[in-house]
Amino acid sequence: SLDFAAKLARRLGVTVREDVVHAVDGVDLSIRRGEVVGLVGESGCGKSTLGRMVAGIMPPTEGSILSHGRDLRSLSGVEARRTKLRTQMIFQDPYASLNPRLKVEDIVGEAPLVHGLVRREDFAGYVDEQFRRAGLDPGLKKRYPHQFSGGQRQRIGIARALAVQPEFLVCDEAVAALDVSIQAQILNLFMKLRQELDLTYLFISHDLGVVEHLSDRVVIMYLGRVVEEAPAEDVFRSANHPYTQALLSEVPRIDTRKRAFAGVKGEIPSPLAPPSGCHFHPRCPHAMERCRIERPALREIAPGRRSACHLNDAA
Ligand code: SF4
Repeated sequence: SLDFAAKLARRLGVTVREDVVHAVDGVDLSIRRGEVVGLVGESGCGKSTLGRMVAGIMPPTEGSILSHGRDLRSLSGVEARRTKLRTQMIFQDPYASLNPRLKVEDIVGEAPLVHGLVRREDFAGYVDEQFRRAGLDPGLKKRYPHQFSGGQRQRIGIARALAVQPEFLVCDEAVAALDVSIQAQILNLFMKLRQELDLTYLFISHDLGVVEHLSDRVVIMYLGRVVEEAPAEDVFRSANHPYTQALLSEVPRIDTRKRAFAGVKGEIPSPLAPPSGCHFHPRCPHAMERCRIERPALREIAPGRRSACHLNDAA
């Protein structure tokens, strides 16, 4: 139907193949408008690299990043700038990217002024609106970044991102540095903004527990490859891949469901010299001879669910 075609046309897609250091290796990921995708894995698994590629900050050495069906590299001039503004990245440490010599009103309002999204005479009201959206008191806008707490600085980072009217936010460990109670507040803010502004999210975290409540779909990465992809509720109810099961057993939960094993054993290997076959085999309690030799393909195991594990062939 026409509706379906329109939806397809509005997909934000990313296809990345074989980075030189294999930081990201043969990943093929599509994100629909309005969707929240959680991207999870241990540090060094390539999820931040993928996030930067999706946000257009880092070009892939091979493969392509598509936004609304258009390859980012094919865009230039005004179109390229507009597309770049549409995707904003929120980092773990907003302080590192907040100019300490600027008042926060200028930090938030600078880009929209430069890009002509607001007129000089509307500047004050526009900045106030972004402050309120991010849960900050506009009365504090004449202060400098060091006068704010960690949680407030993250809100300033969010206000700055919102000020350029994005449609897609890539959040890279955006709550990892915050206390647990503040984490919950910031996660709630992301969800509120999703409703209000019809935002799409790629939410990157090493912690499955953090993405559990806000993701529609979860993508699990291990050493540059996607090992499992499924609707969030399926991942938490019945994870398929042994690596996902291991990650899940690390998430503190109230229920007492039995887990295959506790935690992910051993160190994550170097992405420069990943293990042969299934990258996870040295740490997997179910590893078979075949796992050392043959790379398992990421394939559909149920509608909307994909997993890369040889155990699925035996089933
Ligand atoms: Fe474990 Fe083999 Fe499955 Fe890899 S393919 S996750 S080593 S059982």
